[in-house]
Amino acid sequence: MTKRIFRSICFACFVVLLAAVLLLGQSLYGYFAKMQQDRLRTLTQIAAESAAAEGDLFFARWQNDDWRLTWIDADGTVLYDSERDAAQMKNHASREEVQAALKEGFGESSRFSDTLMEYSLYSAAKLPDGTILRLSLRQSSIFALLGGVALPLAIIFVFAGFLSVFLAVRLSKRIVKPLNALDLEHPSQNSAYEELSPLLRRIESQQEQLKSQHEELQRRKNEWDILISGMEEGLLLVNREGSLISVNPAALRILGAGSSCVGQPAQSIMSRDELVTLLKDALAGRAGQRILTIGDGIYQADANPVKSEGGTAGAVLCLFDRSRQEKIDQLRREFSANVSHELKTPLHIISGCAELLSGGMVKPEDVPSFSDKIYTEAGRMIRLVDDVISLSHLDEGAGDMQREDVDLLTLCKTAVQDLQPAANALKVQLSVKGERAVLTGVPRLLYSIVYNLCDNAIKYNRPGGKVRITVQTEATQTILCVRDTGIGIPADQQTRIFERFYRVDKSRSKAVGGTGLGLSIVKHAALVHGARIDLKSKVNEGTEITVRFPR
Ligand code: ADP
Repeated sequence: MTKRIFRSICFACFVVLLAAVLLLGQSLYGYFAKMQQDRLRTLTQIAAESAAAEGDLFFARWQNDDWRLTWIDADGTVLYDSERDAAQMKNHASREEVQAALKEGFGESSRFSDTLMEYSLYSAAKLPDGTILRLSLRQSSIFALLGGVALPLAIIFVFAGFLSVFLAVRLSKRIVKPLNALDLEHPSQNSAYEELSPLLRRIESQQEQLKSQHEELQRRKNEWDILISGMEEGLLLVNREGSLISVNPAALRILGAGSSCVGQPAQSIMSRDELVTLLKDALAGRAGQRILTIGDGIYQADANPVKSEGGTAGAVLCLFDRSRQEKIDQLRREFSANVSHELKTPLHIISGCAELLSGGMVKPEDVPSFSDKIYTEAGRMIRLVDDVISLSHLDEGAGDMQREDVDLLTLCKTAVQDLQPAANALKVQLSVKGERAVLTGVPRLLYSIVYNLCDNAIKYNRPGGKVRITVQTEATQTILCVRDTGIGIPADQQTRIFERFYRVDKSRSKAVGGTGLGLSIVKHAALVHGARIDLKSKVNEGTEITVRFPR
């Protein structure tokens, strides 16, 4: 800025000086020319009078280097010239001043002299003998005139240069200093010169505009961040060059990356080549989908291009956790296989016995035992189907099941009554103790909890063993405890017995009519009531299962 101001001032000074010099030179030149012309006229008249009086003698005595004297005959022949050889000079009859002098006795002109190759002033007077006397004077050019004043001019130019520098420095400081001191954070609070006010007002309004735009952007970014950080699905946005623009916490967790990856190429956090290919395809405008194993999980990766007017502006990659769904699908497959397998055995037995009976291949005394076998296996199938139906009801959710107040102690007594024949058959002693404990729940499910626990306590007991059922009410919970003195459960299998079809001893379970679903039903029914199950068991000593219902 300072340089520009300096250049402008110097240029202005130079132009003004030059114009002044030229104008002055021109008017001086005109003034001097007029003075010379007047002098020439006067001298010509004096010379003409002297020549008329002295004749040839005047020309012989002429000695003056500043003035050129020419004597021309009436026909234009040059008779004498003070600077040139008259004999060799052209006829001068056509010269303007000569013609005027011949006509009117006196003539003047100024022109570029072909003879002397200079600009000259001419003045001619007619002598009494008809001849013409002419005086001429070389006129200095304007440059010669200026050359004469070159030194003072140079001094003026140098002075003007210094003045320009001084003024430029001072002026630029005065202009720039308030500009440098401007507080652009608060434009309206500046007291700089008046001319800056429109600029400051504009800066202030633009700052306000920028501020509100920034706030709006920040608000949208916060909304976006909240939205994507709350998502369970992984979300990645990449720009046209394949660099990460946004990655939500779920995606970072799935891909095992850190938040510093934003701005880096997407492949730097992709552990699977398939993801890189999906993203490349999406950037090329092709959407794609893959099911992949990433780490311990199974994910569905969906990549889509982000279209804009100019083509593909980027791509978005979503990672959906399919692990749970896959696990459920796998459990369902296993469950179906188990159910078919469990049904196949009794069906084969029933069909075999029935075939033998219908073919008359069974001795009459064996018919009751065959019929008993069919009855037992049919009973096993019915129990299995009942358990499967109960579980599938529980899987569908117990939201629509009718809840009512149920006394747990009464339920236990009913279950004991129902199981008494089985207990008697295995010589197991049943006892119920406790207080009245009313729960709000689904009576059928609560009964199945008590029934299955007591049934197991009898089935996996030893002859002469005991089963003690207690119902207890505390301030925050109602406790059902079924304790037996049976075979117990090995410690490493205690967590697994609640899985569907899991049995510690498969043959014993089958022998006592177990389906492998009893404890699964207990677990689900307890869940429906928000109850917690605790298990304590020691092999050959017995098992204690406690169900704690919240009050
Ligand atoms: P099941 O119909 O075979 O009894 P459950 O789901 O009720 O199926 O029980 C799963 C397995 O847990 C049983 O097969 C058995 O091995 C074991 N079990 C359950 N209750 C007891 C218990 N009170 N004492 C010993 N083992 C038990």
